[in-house]
This record gives sequence, C-alpha cells and structure tokens, in this order.
Amino acid sequence: MADQRPNPLWHPFADMGAVDGDRFVVTRAEGSYVWDDAGTRYFDATASLWYANVGHGRPEITRAVTAQLEQLDAYHLFARTANEPALRLAERLSELAPVPGSKVFLGSGGGDVVDTAVKIARTYFVHIGRPDKTHVISRTQGYHGTHGFGTAAGGITVNAEGFGPLPGDFSHVAYDSPEALEAEIQRLGAERVAAFLCEPVIGAGGVLLPPDGYVEAVAEICRRHDVLFVADCVICGFGRLGTWFGIDRWSVRPDLVTTAKGITGGTIPLGALLVAPHVAEPFFTGRPGAPVLRHGATYAGHPVACAAANATLDLYERDDLIPRGRSLEKPLADSLSGAAGHEAVAEVRAGLGFLAAVELTPDVLAAHPGAADRLYRLLLGEGVVVRPVAKGIVLSPPLIADEPELDLLASAIPRSLDRLL
Ligand code: PLP
Repeated sequence: MADQRPNPLWHPFADMGAVDGDRFVVTRAEGSYVWDDAGTRYFDATASLWYANVGHGRPEITRAVTAQLEQLDAYHLFARTANEPALRLAERLSELAPVPGSKVFLGSGGGDVVDTAVKIARTYFVHIGRPDKTHVISRTQGYHGTHGFGTAAGGITVNAEGFGPLPGDFSHVAYDSPEALEAEIQRLGAERVAAFLCEPVIGAGGVLLPPDGYVEAVAEICRRHDVLFVADCVICGFGRLGTWFGIDRWSVRPDLVTTAKGITGGTIPLGALLVAPHVAEPFFTGRPGAPVLRHGATYAGHPVACAAANATLDLYERDDLIPRGRSLEKPLADSLSGAAGHEAVAEVRAGLGFLAAVELTPDVLAAHPGAADRLYRLLLGEGVVVRPVAKGIVLSPPLIADEPELDLLASAIPRSLDRLL
C-alpha cells in the first residue's frame, strides 16, 4: 500500500509533484523477491537498480559486514593508509581483470569511478608528454552517472539539460556505428582525443545491444589512434553478461574498466576502476617522486564496503553465478516472446546477457502519455517490479532467478500490455 503522507524525501530522477504521497515503500528483500509496506511480495525483475546480482539478503554478506564493523568499522585509504579488505579486494580484481595486472582505484559508486576514469585518462596523457589529448568521446543513449564528467559524457540528452555549462571537450557519436567514432576522431584529430567511453551493452539508455562486431571494431579504432578505450561496465559487470566484467565477453583489451553495483550485490556502495598496467605506469615508477594522482573520495575503499565485496565475490565463485548471465540469456529472451508478438510492442531487445528491454510502439507512446510508467504500475499489480524508461520497460533480474520467475514474466507482461491498450 502506498504511503499517502507527504514526506521531505526528494527522490532521484523523480517528478516530486507526482511522487509525494505515492511512494512504493520497500520494507524487506530476500532472494529474488521484495516486499512492500503492505506485505505484498514482488519478483524483483530489476535486481533493484541492476545490482542485486547474487540475490537479496545473502547471510554470507551480512556476516562479513558485521564482522568487519566489529573489527575495523571505518578507515580511509588516503596517502599510504590501507585496510586489509581493500588490499584483498584489489588483489582479487587485479587477478580477474581483462588486462591482468591492472591497478585498482576504489571509489564510492559508479559515477565517481567514471569521473576518476576521465581524470586518469587525461592526466595519463599529460604525464607522457601529450597534454593536448583531452577530448572524450562517448555514445548517444549512453549513461555514465550524474557526476560532472559523467553528466557531460552521458548520451541521454535530457539528463544534461538545465545545469548550465558542463565540462568541455566531450562529444557523442551514434551508439551503433564504429564508423561514426572513426569519423569523429578524424574530425577532432587523434592528437586531441584522450578516451572513448563505452558501455558494452547500454543499460539505462534502454538496453541497446551492440551490433555484431561493434565492440571489436571500436577497440581497434581506439588502439590505432592511441585513444584510451574506457569500458563502463557498471551494469555489465559481475555476471550480467555472463563474465566477470562484461567487456571480457569480447576478445578486446580495454585500457580502463569501471565497475560498481554488482561488486557488492548493492549491499554497500562501492566502485572500482581497473587501470591497465601501461596506463598506470607513469604513476607506478617503483621509486619515490612519482606523479601524485590528486584525486579520491573520503569513503573510497571503505573497509566495510570492501568486506561486502569480498564476500560477494566469494558467492559468485562458490555458486558459479557468473556464467548464469549467459546461460539465462536465451530463457529470458524466450520468456519475452509473447511480449515481442504483442501489438503494443515495437521491439524486444534481449539475447545478450541477463537483461532485456520491451519497447512500446510510437503509436502507443503517443496515444497514452506516461505509457511506460503505467506498464510498470500494471506489472506491480502482477507482483513484478520492472523499471520504466523513456519508451518502455527494462529488466535485469538477479542471477539466481530461474524458471518460475521467467514463467511469471512470460504471463504477466503480455497480460499487462493487454490492459495498457
Ligand atoms: N555507469 C553506468 C553504465 C551506469 O549504469 C551507472 C548507474 O546506473 C553509472 C555509471 C553511475 O553509477 P552510480 O549511480 O553508482 O553513480
């Protein structure tokens, strides 16, 4: 039951005129399910915000977090201070990294790690004597968080409107065209371009799968022009595409990889940036007097967050959850075949990783303002939480979801689409 009382809580990305007094208050979560304040149970088909990959309420994470709070509740990582969970996590991520031996810079979430990636890309070129390489290219429809550089890099245009001038030296290319990237680098001059920022599968922008050969082609273009290839794997990592980081689904060598979300199953905020050895080299000279990266957040590498991450990585390994992102991609696509054939649906995008989108037809979107939100509400009525986006809904269930949950999607989505018309 929605809480009807006004409340000062201001929600991200929300029309507060409509939300106040109409909240979906989640009170409990376990496995692939959440409960609201009226005690109603829902299948969490979004894994909250794309992060509860190991499922909710895993006691192993709770125990690790509790033990860490008792042992060392909080301590920073600045200068030469470290904590054991952060050291352990960095070692593990470096071993698993698509480019082995990568260095690991920790943050508090995806957005600050994206901004860290842009700063490191730019300052790397400063330190190797090419300070003119500052420009960052990203993709239309991409989402890279809401910090300064991430807002400038984001390709969902409405998200960048109304904030005055954003950081300069950013431009966007069509999300599905390697040729557009090549042309933009030629237009700017490779000697000015620092980085290309790319989600392997665009998530918040509507689950846009890369065309065949796209990822390999853009990686090759970046390599040829000495442009750092930054894979934003904040959503795609930790099993979402059936591999540890998402970008390792392809045989390419990213220079920087951003991760967050599934790294702790979302239980505690944390982000991690993997920096390939050649990019870290100017800072890791092996002797005092190396350039200092004057950047970092108070809670970066918080011991409790790192303990949660280490326990989450243990679960991925022990329960062999990572490959499920690939083995479940066809069953998820199959469960949406009824939606794909529905008259209200323009397109179902699925089949690469355990995530999908159901996009409504332009006619439905024009005839029913707020149709995506209405579909989301109809599905809540069916006991399913999905995420409304501009043109439809997106799904990214926990990796522990299975046949009963996919069967529920197969019946609930077409039924809700019928009611939408
Ligand atoms: N990058 C991508 C690809 C994301 O999807 C997100 C968040 O959804 C971010 C960055 C920002 O992460 P956060 O919300 O933790 O700042």
